[in-house]
Amino acid sequence: MLKLARFLKNGLIKYGVVEGENIVEIEGSIFGDFKKTSVKRKLDEVKPLAPCEPSKIVAIGLNYKAHAAEFSKPLPEEPMLFLKPSTAVIGTGDDIVYPSHMSRRVDYEGELAIVIGKKAHMIKKEDAKEYILGYTCINDVTARDLQGKDIQYTRAKGFDTFAPIGPCIETDLNQEDVRIETYLNGEKRQDTSTCDMIFDVYHLLSFISCVMTLNSGDVIATGTPSGVGKMKHGDRIEIRIQGIGSLVNTVSSK
Ligand code: MG
Repeated sequence: MLKLARFLKNGLIKYGVVEGENIVEIEGSIFGDFKKTSVKRKLDEVKPLAPCEPSKIVAIGLNYKAHAAEFSKPLPEEPMLFLKPSTAVIGTGDDIVYPSHMSRRVDYEGELAIVIGKKAHMIKKEDAKEYILGYTCINDVTARDLQGKDIQYTRAKGFDTFAPIGPCIETDLNQEDVRIETYLNGEKRQDTSTCDMIFDVYHLLSFISCVMTLNSGDVIATGTPSGVGKMKHGDRIEIRIQGIGSLVNTVSSK
């Protein structure tokens, strides 16, 4: 059971293992062999980065029964996939930039994210676990007005900064029943267990891997529970997942 983090220190990108208030630097790759070094830093003395660098983020629309109900949509028969670009990724503490030149309605969507540990192609559901490095939080930020206007989700989901990921990758999580909460300016807006998912984590990985190869570091955003809502400039949005921690971002105008 490890909390893996990526961070910036003295202009260099480093990986480490979070231990309490400290982060212990590692040597090697989080996707292969690594070992802890003797270098230990205080968490508040480093700049956190998104814990991985996905070549793509595969996201799922409508994967919670109550969220389908809040949009009056029927339950999907198979996972509905869309992509978010790698250029949308930011870390905890970074700003979500409101694209006010195009949108008047930007929503948060708190979600459990799967981080792929090794290349996955045509994987059976029963083998899916071994392709998962761990889990983190993602905010699938969405320009809701554009999602309604466009048939495709690319624009609504693809603006720069629309994929906050972090704070760390937890390698051991009971993903079948974990609590996801979202707080807008400290006020609770989403609070659900992943046991309300329509398609579970292993089903999603298997299904996606039969469409496209997943690379190590790729992220699957597993869908948002009910309670989505809009954000405005200056809002502080926190996605908190039991066992992982909190992903916190502020909405800025530029
Ligand atoms: Mg979503």
